[in-house]
Amino acid sequence: MPPQLRIGLGHDTHRTAPGGPLRLGGIDIAADLHLLGHSDADVLLHAITDSLLGAANLGDIGELFPDTAAENLGRDSAEMLNTAWQRVQSAGWEIVNIDCVVLAERPKLLPHRLAICQRITDILNIDPQRVGLKGKTGERSGEIGRGEIIQAIANCLLQQA
Ligand code: MG
Repeated sequence: MPPQLRIGLGHDTHRTAPGGPLRLGGIDIAADLHLLGHSDADVLLHAITDSLLGAANLGDIGELFPDTAAENLGRDSAEMLNTAWQRVQSAGWEIVNIDCVVLAERPKLLPHRLAICQRITDILNIDPQRVGLKGKTGERSGEIGRGEIIQAIANCLLQQA
């Protein structure tokens, strides 16, 4: 019998504001902007969290960590991802791989890619080879291109543990 596989998709958007540092992928990046949100606004970790929850059919990040709850104010998204991942593991799943795209006009992602992937695989306690990350700009067009928002997309593949 072939292994049972489930695909997950996560997407998130946060608005930018002047002044750094930028919390992205669980690390603080020197930048001239940061993201606004109820939690620490880590758009990439939110997308990954939703992809895992979606693949396991365990709801979404807004259900697990409502933005109306005081305990989620300024909350560390790494902790939220870890909590969600524990639920997914408890439901009998392990990660085959995660692939992500960050859509941001600035800062450039490439110099930070290794550190972000390392941090994500540390949070999830998985092999570094299992996480891919790409940065794309908005080609100076639209809200992304004007630097007003940063978005992230994450796909994951789970298999039965
Ligand atoms: Mg979010």
